Amino acid sequence: MKIETIAIHAGNVTSADTGAVIQPVTLSTTFKRDADGGYPGGHIYSRISNPNRASLENVLAKLEGGAAAAAFSSGNAAGMAVFQSLPPGSHVIAPDDMYHGLRNQLKYLFEGILTFDFIDVNDMAALNDYIEDSTALIWLETPSNPLLKITDIRAVVEIAHENGIKVVVDNTFATPMCQQPLNLGADMVMHSTTKYLGGHSDVTGGALICKQKDDWWQKIRQVQEFGGAIPSPQDCYMLVRSIKTLPYRMKGHVSNALLLAQFLEHQPKVEKVMYPGLYSHPQYNIAKQQMLSFGGMLSFCVKGGAEEAKKVINSLKLFTQATSLGGVESLIEHRYSVEGPDSKTPKNLLRVSVGLENIEDLIEDISLAISSL
Ligand SMILES: *Cc1c(COP(=O)(O)O)cnc(C)c1O
Repeated sequence: MKIETIAIHAGNVTSADTGAVIQPVTLSTTFKRDADGGYPGGHIYSRISNPNRASLENVLAKLEGGAAAAAFSSGNAAGMAVFQSLPPGSHVIAPDDMYHGLRNQLKYLFEGILTFDFIDVNDMAALNDYIEDSTALIWLETPSNPLLKITDIRAVVEIAHENGIKVVVDNTFATPMCQQPLNLGADMVMHSTTKYLGGHSDVTGGALICKQKDDWWQKIRQVQEFGGAIPSPQDCYMLVRSIKTLPYRMKGHVSNALLLAQFLEHQPKVEKVMYPGLYSHPQYNIAKQQMLSFGGMLSFCVKGGAEEAKKVINSLKLFTQATSLGGVESLIEHRYSVEGPDSKTPKNLLRVSVGLENIEDLIEDISLAISSL
């Protein structure tokens, strides 16, 4: 089956009892045993598994071409499950521009439990130098946030696997529509389903998808079950519903983002545009090889500093100033202010989650805002 078909059908079970075409939300926390003490429906207790979560995990696994998926209550909870699954004392290599929430998780919650280095994972020589005997995991995030840097997943996987190291890719920015890390050799994919998979800025969730159901995956399942950071049946239902339109939403996000990036690139008051689909992107060739399409996120630097960047934001009417991404509405954000003083993000950078409004309206709005500079 092709991905549009999977998105619609793999997360749904038509009810044998009522004939309901759309799977209902199962709120029950507990499930009845049969006369022999077995569980005919396959579920025991809702922290362990639930019909809506099972459907969500099924569609997520199929979309990423994985063997199985585990859904969590947030993207950070999914990331935490990965770090908790590693033996204490393991060494983790992560990008120096890793999503700041997960970077803070490692720094503040895993201090003394794991060791970690935040490095430029695109520098293969540096990557090799940082590998230790205890290195268990290389974490990748591509395209990265907010600089939209591209990491060559295949190249990193090659180095990692030579050294018996696992590779996890945070695929939140790309979505399975734009990039399939498991096909490029990665061992696991992580998502903040809060973003494009939810797509409407009204559900918080996360997921992990594995290439193989190996011992490591059993450990991840244990973290999900014993740790208990699981999504509610209602949230799983909402995600399954949203995922049905993911392929078509992404087509719109990608085409709007490319047009907006091309427009911004030609504006005299714009210093630089970062979008992997532009020829001017330093890793355009890698992006073209490993991505199916270039995603809906872009960043640009206005000429000047933080003051000019904020002036643009405050002149916009259609783009809402807010954090997060992946919803149907366009959002814009001054990342430096969000990330705080240890941020390496340029002060004149604005990050845009390009929504599904008509592109002409978006361009007109941003054009007027830039002309206010
Ligand atoms: C939002 C985000 C996360 C964290 O997800 P939450 O759902 O907010 O916990 C992780 N990685 C990336 C790239 C994100 O954008």
